[in-house]
Amino acid sequence: MTFIDLDRFKAVNDGLGHDIGDLLLQEVAHRIQERLRSMDTVARMGGDEFVVLMEDFDTAGDCASLADTLIREIAQPMALRGHTVEVGASMGIAFFPEDGSEALELMKRADMAMYAAKAAGRNTYRFFQKEMLERVNRHLSLEMELRRAVARQEFELHYQPRVDLANGRALSVEALLRWRHPERGLLLPGEFIALAEESGLIVDIGAWVLDEACRQVSDWLARGTTLRVAVNVSARQMGDGDVVERISALTARHAISPALLEIELTESAVMADPETVAVVFSRLRKMGITIAVDDFGTGYSSLAYLRRLPIDVLKIDRSFVMNVDREEEDAQIVKTILALGQSLKLSVVAEGIETRPQAELLRSVGCNIVQGYHFSRPLPPAQLEEWLRGHTVGDLGLAQG
Ligand code: C2E
Ligand code: MG
Ligand code: MG
Repeated sequence: MTFIDLDRFKAVNDGLGHDIGDLLLQEVAHRIQERLRSMDTVARMGGDEFVVLMEDFDTAGDCASLADTLIREIAQPMALRGHTVEVGASMGIAFFPEDGSEALELMKRADMAMYAAKAAGRNTYRFFQKEMLERVNRHLSLEMELRRAVARQEFELHYQPRVDLANGRALSVEALLRWRHPERGLLLPGEFIALAEESGLIVDIGAWVLDEACRQVSDWLARGTTLRVAVNVSARQMGDGDVVERISALTARHAISPALLEIELTESAVMADPETVAVVFSRLRKMGITIAVDDFGTGYSSLAYLRRLPIDVLKIDRSFVMNVDREEEDAQIVKTILALGQSLKLSVVAEGIETRPQAELLRSVGCNIVQGYHFSRPLPPAQLEEWLRGHTVGDLGLAQG
């Protein structure tokens, strides 16, 4: 059984209209039928999905070469009412009875293999493999655990200081999410944020993060420490119509000034929907919240947008900082971002500083606000407080001058 899903069909359907989309599906069906034997079955499962059922196939190799042929055929340009249209196809193949003994089971596995083909870059095919099932199951159980984690309050925030090299002081910190998993220990965002985004759980988790960050700011205030906290938000949260009201309600509830809150959104999330983001940013900024563009330099910013966006801070991505003291090109990029920041009147922060030479180079080119393991790893609140007490000018691992 072969599961076929077209690549880029939605773009054609949305761009050229449903009439052309229908013609395209007919043409694809025709091309598939042309290559099958009369005993084979092809069905459209809905949308842009087709299933081919073939009995009496000699070898997996035959199956693979048929898939190759179908992919090539489908990829040929089509002339549809004066438009030349091209789509691709991703295919997943599953065998009876090895991969499944019932139609539905077989179809699910062919579908799973199709997703693997899509993940492998589209316009290709994959055979179903047991490991795919394991991966999907792992994914599902992680998602269930993640769902529970919100309710069971297994999350915590660690804080990484942002240091001003001019005076060695830390005036703000970045809140970074950690998951205290009951069996697997402390998990970093890299292990669960993507899944949280995919499943929509990020909305609840993000709400918890904002609440906890505000609570922490207010707790520090009560104990005489004024620190601004930068919170990472995801694109999904920005798209949630109430985000501004929620944040405003939180700062009110915890009785903190919005000036003590900073919102970080990655450059790629900003550029994915600059209109919506601009509206939300300007409302947040009117409240007095600082706005930062994270991972800057990786997201293909349009300078036209950047100029008009209500933002305060650019955070230079770690990938440019990593070799800044060794690669002239990276140093040039950092200088360019600094110049850009200066002309747009934004402050520039470099993240991911791990060594003294990196810090020294950054300071020499005028990038004074830095963050990285060289100064401190992200720390639980109590340890951060200790760090803040112990660090003043001169002991940040930098020569003074
Ligand atoms: P980010 O916002 O760019 O955060 C910086 C990441 O770099 C953090 O990883 C931090 O621990 C790490 N880092 C800091 N200094 C250094 C250094 O000197 N060397 C190296 N190698 N790494 C350094 P972390 O905590 O694993 O977070 C990864 C990403 O997950 C963050 O990147 C952010 O995009 C996302 N994230 C973290 N917390 C949240 C959250 O509460 N909500 C959302 N939506 N995303 C979050
Ligand atoms: Mg960040
Ligand atoms: Mg970053």
